[in-house]
Amino acid sequence: MIGAGVIGLSASASLVIGGVDVTCFERFAAAMGERSAGSSRIFRLAHSEPNLVRLAMSARDGFARWADDAGTPMVDSSGCVISGTDVIDRASAMSTAGAKYDMIESPSDIVRLPVVVPPSPALIDPAGGVIDVDAVRAYLLARTRNILVHEPVYALDCSAEAEVTVWSSSGGSHYDSVIIAAGSGTSALAAQVDIYTPPLLAHHVRFTFPIDDSSKWPAWIDNPAERLSTYQHRSGPGQWSVGGQIDAELTAWEVGREAATAASREAILDYVRERLSVKPTIVDSLYCTHVPDMGDGVEFRRNGLVLAIYGENLMKFAPALGAALAAAATEGSTPTVRELAGR
Ligand SMILES: Cc1cc2nc3c(=O)[nH]c(=O)nc-3n(C[C@H](O)[C@H](O)[C@H](O)COP(=O)(O)OP(=O)(O)OC[C@H]3O[C@@H](n4cnc5c(N)ncnc54)[C@H](O)[C@@H]3O)c2cc1C
Repeated sequence: MIGAGVIGLSASASLVIGGVDVTCFERFAAAMGERSAGSSRIFRLAHSEPNLVRLAMSARDGFARWADDAGTPMVDSSGCVISGTDVIDRASAMSTAGAKYDMIESPSDIVRLPVVVPPSPALIDPAGGVIDVDAVRAYLLARTRNILVHEPVYALDCSAEAEVTVWSSSGGSHYDSVIIAAGSGTSALAAQVDIYTPPLLAHHVRFTFPIDDSSKWPAWIDNPAERLSTYQHRSGPGQWSVGGQIDAELTAWEVGREAATAASREAILDYVRERLSVKPTIVDSLYCTHVPDMGDGVEFRRNGLVLAIYGENLMKFAPALGAALAAAATEGSTPTVRELAGR
C-alpha cells in the first residue's frame, strides 16, 4: 500500500483484519496528514448518482461497524442539508437508491442553519452528519501501526512477471500486489507503471469561525445558481467551518498556495458577512490540494499487479473503499462504483 491517508489506511486495516501480509508506505512522519488532515468532514448519503448514494450507504454501515469496534461514534447524527441547483437530482438519486430524505419547498426555520435567509428548496438527509476524523484516525492507526513504514516511495518497477518492486528510501522491496492510494502523489507514481490518473492539482482552503457552543446545526451543502457554492459544518465545539468553490483561476496550481489562500479567505469572508449569522472572524483554516472539476467521483485504474485509486470527497466513502481495495488487492480485480454499489 502506498499512502497512509484515510483510504490507504482503511484498505490496510481491511487487509490486516483479513490476515494478509501488508506494508503501508507513508512519506511523512504523520499518517492522515495531507488530504485527510483535520478533525472533521461531512458525511452524506445525498449524491446526484444512485450508485454513489448506495456506496455512501455501505460506507455508513462501515462507519457504524468501526464505531462498534472502537466504542466511540465515527459519524454524528446532526444530519445534512442540501440546497441549490442540484437538489432535485439528489432527491431523485436518493429515491432510486432507497435512501430516506425530506424536502422543504419554501424558506422555513425547520432548516436550522446559521443563515440570514433559510435556503429553499432544501433536502434534509437525516443519515448525514459530521465525521469525527480524530476517531477515524485513532481507529485505523490502532489496526495498522505495525505495518506502517514512514518512507517515501519514489519508484515502481513492474518489469518482473509476478512481482512489483517498490523503491523507497531504504531500497527495493518486492510485492505481489500494490495499491497506490497516495492522494496528491498518485499521478506521479501511477504514470511510472503506465496508469493515467489526473495530474492536475488545485489549492483548496476551508475556514473556521467561532459559534455559540450550544449550536447544533446540521452540515450544509449549498450550490446556488449564482454566487458561491459552499459546504459548511460544525467542525468542533464552538466551531463552524466553511469551504467554497472559489473561482478556478484564483486557486489554480500556478497561482501558488499563498495567493490561493488569500483569495479564498477574501471570498469566504465576503460570503460569511453577507449570508451567515456567524461572527466573521477566522479562528482556524485547513489547506489541501484537490483534483479540479472532479466533484464527488471515485475511479480505479489497474495495470497488471498495480491498482491506483483517485477521487474527490473520499472521506465519506472510506470504510467501503477500504474494503473494496483490500478485496481487489487479493483478487487482482479492478473495482467499479457500479459493482460496489451492488455489493
Ligand atoms: C478542506 C477539506 C475539506 C474536505 N471536505 C470533505 C467532506 O466534507 N467530506 C468528504 O468526504 N471528504 C472531504 N474532503 C476530501 C477528503 O478528505 C479526501 O478525499 C480524503 O481524505 C483523501 O484521502 P486519501 O487517502 O485519498 O488521500 P491523502 O489523505 O492525501 O493520503 C495520501 C497519502 O499518501 C502519501 N503519499 C503521497 N505520495 C507518497 C509517496 N510517494 N510515498 C509514500 N507516501 C506518499 C501522502 O503523504 C498522504 O499521507 C475534504 C478535504 C479537505 C482537505
